[in-house]
Formats: sequence, structure tokens, C-alpha cells
Amino acid sequence: MNLGGFESSIAISKKTAVGGKAIRDYKSLLQKQSRAEARSYSRSSILESISGNVVGNDNKQCFHFGINVCDTFVALADATLNGDVIFGKNSDRPNGEVQDVVSCPATRNDVGDLLQCTSLQIPQAKQTYAVILSKPRWMWGAEMGANEHGVAIGNEAVWTTEAYSESGLLGMDLVRLGLERGASALEALHVIVDLMAAYGQGGNCAEHFDMTYHNSYLLADPAEAWVLETAGSYWVAEQITSGTRSISNGLSIHGKGDLRHPELDRKMDEGFDFAHLFSPPEAWGTVSPLSREGRVRQLCQQSEGVFSLQTAKSVLRDHSGGVCMHGDFETRGSQVSTLTEGGCEHWFIEGPFPCQEKYQKRVF
Ligand SMILES: [Zn+2]
Repeated sequence: MNLGGFESSIAISKKTAVGGKAIRDYKSLLQKQSRAEARSYSRSSILESISGNVVGNDNKQCFHFGINVCDTFVALADATLNGDVIFGKNSDRPNGEVQDVVSCPATRNDVGDLLQCTSLQIPQAKQTYAVILSKPRWMWGAEMGANEHGVAIGNEAVWTTEAYSESGLLGMDLVRLGLERGASALEALHVIVDLMAAYGQGGNCAEHFDMTYHNSYLLADPAEAWVLETAGSYWVAEQITSGTRSISNGLSIHGKGDLRHPELDRKMDEGFDFAHLFSPPEAWGTVSPLSREGRVRQLCQQSEGVFSLQTAKSVLRDHSGGVCMHGDFETRGSQVSTLTEGGCEHWFIEGPFPCQEKYQKRVF
């Protein structure tokens, strides 16, 4: 039975029903009472009612924590029909939140200029690149986007064993900063980890209730693709060299990665495994093909060699795994980009839902 969206992606478990009820109760509070009262209901009632529990479509080997939202994937040149690099992401956000697609021109700035991010003010860069962003209207940052140098970035909420901070740069702020300041995927990766080191990651990721998470990122350009995963102040990055790769709501880089936080370098032993070290124990296990994460991985892998723009759109419109999400959390924006040295194209859906709307080509 397809329950749709939030329910379907983590369905059948009674624990999930508790989480869904908590969100509905919160929304009811928001309608009847003040926003402050509703906020106090917040994370403890919504997230903790489902976090830490092993839930899944099949109640077997499918592990999810907290709210299970968003998927990002890349197909490298050897996996695609035309030899392009193809990037895709759905942005799944609280039901009804407004998400816009906006173009921002390149800027030149003076030393000492400040930049107001969602909650922090930081020094502005001397130069920023032109970007197209798909962003919740209330925040400065973006769920995903691309820049004039052919870099595309999307982030994911990940649940880890490290503490969550109430202040810092949002993962979405870091997506935008990476795009504005990175002329390649690797350059953007260094922008993100340097800013994390300077200001930390944290802050509230929702407009009307409390939700804080750590982040993973998929960064791609016509020549390279990287997965960057974080847990608190720690991070690891893995270069994707062939085929397809997707990320969802858990840490997926097993082993040492290709780049990592300097402190991990010092502490690392032979058996170092970033995902294992920083994932809650309940998340240790294989990913079910029936889960959202498993479904995206499977759809991408089975198209390797013939992966096209159409493939990317169909993955993001999939309902079997709840990739196109309907419910308390829903797909509020979608992006597909084809990245080539000869010219990149960026296609967006502004608002819900990929299954109902056509992708529109956007230019800088
Ligand atoms: Zn749909």
C-alpha cells in the first residue's frame, strides 16, 4: 500500500505513526495557539518520538532516524548516455513551506564587508560567483543550486552521535556559500569545511519549529564529484570516480575517505570507519532496497551506462520509495543539472511536486 510521502518512506512501523502524529499535533497547535507555544512542542515531541528507533518499510534491515527526507545523486560521465555528469536532488521540507528558485549575480566586495547568513554574520568574500538557488524563502541558505562555473551542490540531513548545536551556519548556508565561493566541486568542498571550522554548523533548520541536524553534501562539476559527510565538527570526503552515487539521511562513507578533518588524521588507526564511528549503533547495517535511500541507489545503478536527463527526472518522480514525497514533509523543490565542459544546463521545479510539474530550464 502506498501511503504517500512521509508516511510511506518510513511506514508500517508503529513508531513512525507516533512521529507523524507529533507533527500533526504540532501543526494543530500552531493553528490554535501562539507560535511560541507551538515552538515549545518542538523537537522533543516531533523528532524524538521517532528518532533512535529502527523503522522502515520492511521492519527488517531498513534503518532511519529522525525525519527521513531528501535524496541527492550524481551520475558520472561513464554512467550517462551522453557523457555528461548529471546531478539531481529533491528538497523535502515541512508541508506548506515556500521554496523559491532565485538567481543571484556575481558580486565584487570590499574588505570588511559583512554577509548576513540565516543567523550568523560572517566576513563577505572579495568575489562571489553567479548562482541559481532553490531555497526556502525564510532562510538565507539554499537546499541546492548551481553556479556559473558548473558546480552543483545539494545537502542532506544526517543523524549522528555528535551533539547538535543551536548556533552556527546551517547546512543550507554552507551549500550557498560553497556555490558563491567555489569555482570547482573541490574548491567548494574546502570552502564548506573551512567555514565549518571557523563558525561551526548548527542552528534551527525549520521556520516554525525546532529542528537541528548535521549535514552531508554531494558536490559535482563537469570533471569531479565529491561526497562530504559531517558529524558535529568532524568531516570526511570521498571522491566519486565512476558510476553513480547517492546520499540520503545517514552517513555512507565507510573507511577513511580521501580527505578528512585533521584531528581524525591524527587519531586514525587501520580499522577507521567514519560512518561506523559517528552513526548511532542502530544505523549499523545494510540499506534495504525498499527504503528511500536504497530505492534511489537501485534506480541509479540500474541505469548506469544509459543514465540521462530523463532518468534523473524519473528517479525524482518515483513514488515506490517515496522519493517524490507527499505528506507532513513534502517535496517543495527539485533540481536536475547536466554538467559538461561545453556548457551546463539547470532544470528546476519551483514548489511541489515533481510528479505533477514540468522541469523548467533556468539560466544565470
Ligand atoms: Zn509525487
